[in-house]
Amino acid sequence: MARRPILAANWKMQKTVGEALAFAGSFLPLVKDAAADVVLAPPATALHALGQAIQGSNVALAAQNVSPEPKGAFTGELSTEMLADVGCSYAIVGHSERRTLFGETSAFVAAKAEALLAQNILPIVCCGESLEQREANQTFSYVGGQIRESLARIDKARAAEIVVAYEPIWAIGTGKTATPEMAQEVHAMIRGVLGELFGADGEAIRIQYGGSVKPANVAELMSQTDIDGALVGGASLEPESFSQIVNFGG
Ligand code: PEP
Repeated sequence: MARRPILAANWKMQKTVGEALAFAGSFLPLVKDAAADVVLAPPATALHALGQAIQGSNVALAAQNVSPEPKGAFTGELSTEMLADVGCSYAIVGHSERRTLFGETSAFVAAKAEALLAQNILPIVCCGESLEQREANQTFSYVGGQIRESLARIDKARAAEIVVAYEPIWAIGTGKTATPEMAQEVHAMIRGVLGELFGADGEAIRIQYGGSVKPANVAELMSQTDIDGALVGGASLEPESFSQIVNFGG
């Protein structure tokens, strides 16, 4: 099945409002003809201004996190309504940094994904194994389990809209990339689980690869059958390198 590629930038805790706007000024003209969905996930402080700056362009806005709660006494949190209010059409959930540094479980990620879809914001649901798990031959069981639990609350009728990101933890920010064959093997396993969960709609779900994606390796990764895009950290911080990723990968 032909799936539209999706390339997303995860800036993590980087860029002030001014830096985000300067990025947009250089980046938008470089990707205006992209044959892919292009997404920028700035820190929360830059969402509103960046959302305004990219309005009417072919680039979409994403949050890096969200609360599953609609409102109330949740100091420091942002609701799906607030994200929609500033123009988010996507939100990353369950990034390995949230899981390992902030203790987020797949059950919590599932609640976030459900709340996002109810607000018509598309969740980018992350999964991925540690080096220890890979070396212990637990990649399939661990990542398969993360997918089953993290997508447990997705309405079958909306499943085709979600995005999954497979990001082996040992490849994030380390310069180590899974070979295209290693990544494809896990993506194919994930595709199988999506089929079990959602039937034929599992074929429509886009699965991004993440982990040291660069202009030099994106095309080969994306040539794999079940790799439909990339979630990019370090190489998304400069307009030139991320636009090359978009234009090579799209
Ligand atoms: C990420 O954290 O989503 C990521 C893939 O980072 P990097 O591209 O820097 O490895």
